[in-house]
Amino acid sequence: MSQVAGCVFCAILRGELPSTEVLSTTRTYAFRDINPGAPTHVLVIPRQHITDAAAIEDDHGEVLAELFVTAQRVAEAEGLAERGYRLVFNVGQDSGNSVPHLHLHLLGGRVMAWPPG
Ligand code: AMP
Ligand code: ZN
Repeated sequence: MSQVAGCVFCAILRGELPSTEVLSTTRTYAFRDINPGAPTHVLVIPRQHITDAAAIEDDHGEVLAELFVTAQRVAEAEGLAERGYRLVFNVGQDSGNSVPHLHLHLLGGRVMAWPPG
């Protein structure tokens, strides 16, 4: 199934909910996080509904490669490629994962602490 009823990010992909687009590709979509945790906070999602990183399967290789290439292009467009940035997938309750549609957080524009809180 490519999109799922009731999924917030699938609704964004269908244009039923607003979003601020950063980049759009055949298999992925990048948009600004509504509650940014850094000067740049972009979410990169597959157009195909995948629940989270724990649901990734062998045949997701192409879409995942495109997800990371989109993130690289976003980082370049946001002027972060040289100074660096953070990429994060949250999985499950302890991580604070709140939207059950795979999303790669791209955070940058400030120095990040490690480990995350
Ligand atoms: P996570 O906690 O990893 O599941 O991250 C979900 C992220 O989605 C959070 O950073 C939210 O601020 C963000 N978010 C939730 N709803 C929207 C929305 N409608 N548009 C943009 N970002 C959203
Ligand atoms: Zn979805």
